[in-house]
Amino acid sequence: MVTKLNNSPSPQPSPSGRGGNRENHGLNIAVIGGGYAGMAAAAELAARGIPVTVYESAKQLGGRARGVEYNDTQLDNGQHLLLGCYRETLRLIELVGGDIAQDFLRLPLQLDLHKQFSLKAPRLPAPLHLLVALMRAQGLDWSERLKAARFMLTMRLNDFRLQQDMTVSALLALHDQDANLSLKLWEPLCIAALNTPIHKASAQVLLNVLRDSLDRRRADSDMLLPHLDFTALFPQRAADYVVKHGGKVLLAEGIETITTQADGVTLSSAAGTQHYSHIICATSPTVAARLLDPIAALRNTVAHIEALEQQPIYTVYLQYPEQVRLPCPMLGLHQCVSQWLFDKGQIAAQHGLLAAVISAEGLHQDLSQEALAQKVIAELQREFGISDTPLWYKVIAEKRATFCCSPNLLRPTQQTAEARVLLAGDYTAGDYPATLEGAVISGVRCARLLLAH
Ligand SMILES: Cc1cc2nc3c(=O)[nH]c(=O)nc-3n(C[C@H](O)[C@H](O)[C@H](O)COP(=O)(O)OP(=O)(O)OC[C@H]3O[C@@H](n4cnc5c(N)ncnc54)[C@H](O)[C@@H]3O)c2cc1C
Repeated sequence: MVTKLNNSPSPQPSPSGRGGNRENHGLNIAVIGGGYAGMAAAAELAARGIPVTVYESAKQLGGRARGVEYNDTQLDNGQHLLLGCYRETLRLIELVGGDIAQDFLRLPLQLDLHKQFSLKAPRLPAPLHLLVALMRAQGLDWSERLKAARFMLTMRLNDFRLQQDMTVSALLALHDQDANLSLKLWEPLCIAALNTPIHKASAQVLLNVLRDSLDRRRADSDMLLPHLDFTALFPQRAADYVVKHGGKVLLAEGIETITTQADGVTLSSAAGTQHYSHIICATSPTVAARLLDPIAALRNTVAHIEALEQQPIYTVYLQYPEQVRLPCPMLGLHQCVSQWLFDKGQIAAQHGLLAAVISAEGLHQDLSQEALAQKVIAELQREFGISDTPLWYKVIAEKRATFCCSPNLLRPTQQTAEARVLLAGDYTAGDYPATLEGAVISGVRCARLLLAH
C-alpha cells in the first residue's frame, strides 16, 4: 500500500515539525524521487529502522523504469533488462518481498545478431565460459576469435583497469580489434551497456561492466527479464515495505524548492513545507540541478550535473496477433534500425507483443514516430517473415534516457558540500554507466552515509 496524500498535509515528523526523534537516531529523512535510486535509499533506511518520507512528483513510482499502460496492455517506459551481476538490485528486490527465481526469465549469456553472429556461453565457470564462447562464436573468423579472446585476457591481466581512460573506439584500435569484430561484438555490447556510441563511450566504464558481468561468476552474465512490469518489480514493493516500517510514500507530490538551514533542510511542495534533518535528492539530473541551484555550497555539484550530456533510447512496442513470435525471447539485428528485439510472449506471457529497442543517438532520431515504426515493421517482415500487420504500435521516445557515458566524466558524489543534502541517481559517482544497478547502488550508499553519520 502506498500512502497517497495529494491535498492533505504532509506528515509531521515531530510535534514541532522540526528535527527527528530519539528512536530514529536523530535522523528525520526525506527522499525526493521514487525511482530505483530513491526507493533503494528508502528501503535500505527502513530496513535499518529509519522510517523516511518519499516524495514522488508522478502519480506512480519507478521514474524512467516505470510501468506504462497502453491499450489495456502493461508496457514499460522502454524495455529494460537486468544482469546477473546486479547484486544490489537483486538483493533489494528480495528484501522487499520479491523472489528472483519466480520474478524473472533468466537467460544464460547468449548474444545473437540474427543470421550474422552468435555467441553462446557453455556451462563452464567464469571466465572460461566466455573464452570458450568467443572461440566458438559464429560470424567471426578464426583470427577475429583469437583477437577477441586475447583482448579479454589482456584486460583481465590488467585487472580491467586503464592507466588513462579513452574512448571505446580508441581502446579497440589499440588492441587490434578489427571492423567486423567491433561491429558484431563490441559495438552492440557497448551501446547496450553504456547507451553511448563507441566513439564517445568511456573504455574504463565498459571494462567495469565486462569485469563484473563476465569475469567473476558464470551467473553474473545471465540476462534477467522480469515477468512483471518495472514499477511492480521493485519500487512498488519497496513503497509497501517502507510504509510497513513506519515511513510514508507520497505520490503526485513534487518538491518545488529545497532550503538549507543550520539545523536541517526545508522542502516545499504544493501541500506546504516540511522540515527534515537530511534529504536525499534522487531525481533525474536535470531536476536535481534545478532544485539544488539556489544552494550556494552546491555550486560545483550543480556545474558537474549541468555538464552531463544526455543520450536517448527509443522503444517501439508492436502488438501482433497472438501467434506471432520470435525465434527466442531476445535477439539483435545487425546493421538495422532495430538493435534488440524482445518477445514479450516468451518473457511475460503477453503473446504477440514485440519490443524493438534503439539505444543511443543516431539517424533514427530524425524520423517521425510513424516512420520509425514502419521501419521496424519492415525489418521484422524481412528478417523473420512476419507478414501480419500489427494491431497497434506505441513508440516511447526517451530523449534524455541516460547520461552520455564519456571518458573521464566528473560525476557528482553522493556526499555533497552541504552535509544535510545527499545525492542519489544513476548519474552520480560510481563504476557503472546509467543503469538500474548504478541507481540502486547510489541510493544504498546515501542510506549508509546517513547511518554512519
Ligand atoms: C528506455 C530506457 C531503457 C533502459 N534500459 C535499461 C536496462 O535495460 N537496464 C538498466 O540497468 N538500465 C536501463 N535504463 C536506465 C535506467 O532506467 C535508469 O538508470 C534508472 O531508472 C534511473 O533511476 P533513478 O532513480 O536514478 O532516476 P529516475 O528513474 O529518473 O527517478 C527519478 C524520480 O524522481 C521523480 N521526480 C522528479 N522531479 C521530482 C520532484 N520535483 N519531486 C519529487 N519527485 C521528483 C521522477 O518522477 C522519478 O520518479 C534504461 C532507461 C531508459 C529510459
